[in-house]
Amino acid sequence: MSDNPSKQAPKKRKRVNVRRPDVMALVQAEVEQHYRSNIVEKIRSHGGQITMGNTTIRLAKQFGFCYGVERAIDLAYATRKVFSDQRIFLIGEIIHNPEVNTQLRDMGIVSLPWRKMSEEYDDINDQDVVIVPAFGAPMSFMDRLGEIGCHVIDTTCGDVMKVWRRVRDYAKKEVTSIIHGKADHEETRATASRALGAEKNGHYLIILSLKDADYVSDYIRGKGDREDFLRKFAGAYSDGFDPDLHLIFVGVANQTTMLQSETEELQVRVRKAVVDRDGSEEKYHVFDTICGATQERQNALFQMLNTKDQSPMDLLLVVGGYNSSNTTHLAEIGEENLPTFFIRNAKCLESLESIIHYDLEHKAEIKSDYPGLMLKDQPIVIGVTAGASCPNNLIESTIIRSMELRGITSDDLTAFR
Ligand code: SF4
Repeated sequence: MSDNPSKQAPKKRKRVNVRRPDVMALVQAEVEQHYRSNIVEKIRSHGGQITMGNTTIRLAKQFGFCYGVERAIDLAYATRKVFSDQRIFLIGEIIHNPEVNTQLRDMGIVSLPWRKMSEEYDDINDQDVVIVPAFGAPMSFMDRLGEIGCHVIDTTCGDVMKVWRRVRDYAKKEVTSIIHGKADHEETRATASRALGAEKNGHYLIILSLKDADYVSDYIRGKGDREDFLRKFAGAYSDGFDPDLHLIFVGVANQTTMLQSETEELQVRVRKAVVDRDGSEEKYHVFDTICGATQERQNALFQMLNTKDQSPMDLLLVVGGYNSSNTTHLAEIGEENLPTFFIRNAKCLESLESIIHYDLEHKAEIKSDYPGLMLKDQPIVIGVTAGASCPNNLIESTIIRSMELRGITSDDLTAFR
């Protein structure tokens, strides 16, 4: 990085309260205009389901924007209003939704790299404003902003901060944090940096799957090869982490948006390994940190799948950004039960026979032929849900497009009472 005078004179991070009542009144009107949907509200008022002709749209009871995302968006909009003449930057994306991020870009909010602090950060000065996204940011980023002395608008969700408190506590007790999450996810990186503790000498290991949990559990039981372990989890553990030393005292935490059932099973397996090794769970700690909004959306989908007094869904559309963790898990749940398409927006519904969607296995957008159930003369029940980062206007356009393909116009839908 280049020399920057602000680096030489560390200053305190300038935190600003932009949630002034006069500002928030304006923000709420603008956010409503950008993301609200009358059609979604109407379907909700009909108990979450409408039938027109032989087409039924069924909405999950809980879907779309969570409180943390709403707050982060409100704060970003408020920042633009309060700092109308200043440069505003954002670390990465405010949330994982391309439409929302484009909207912020159009408001002149410039996204900075989030994986590492590249030279763009050298250009920031103490008059600039930097927004920290809902996922939070690693300590190294926050320290750098403090050195620069710029204005910081921190939109980190309170549920993410709960996880940070937990892993900091583990570090204080010299317990290694085993974090169930994605090593390349903003939130997990931010959490991992807190797991180092105040002295930066704590340790963490990030694991993604039950297969990883089994591998680590075997190692805890004394079965495993150190070099193989370090190779397998390269990039997912703290500097100096040694599985022979740092898997004695372990504490499990998780990214807030993981699949709840998987996290619970992972906790059971790691705990059992510690008990098998020690004969007690004294050196094992756990704290479930899946957030309420993620749980509610997963539970609402399970409820939709298990409803006995309604005709079953023929297919499920899961709407959201492909890099959204909680949306991905909704798609996983759907895929285990019925034809499910994880789509970015309504444009993905090309025709009755062709849907562009995200393939979870190959981690790529693909186009699938979907003949049969979408044929116009056959009745169909289309389930719709969306992750915590998906605005209602995107859900609305998905519903309108699905209906259009079935020969029902948006005017018909708007006129529906
Ligand atoms: S998904 Fe959960 S942790 Fe993430 S912003 Fe929403 S409430 Fe917060």
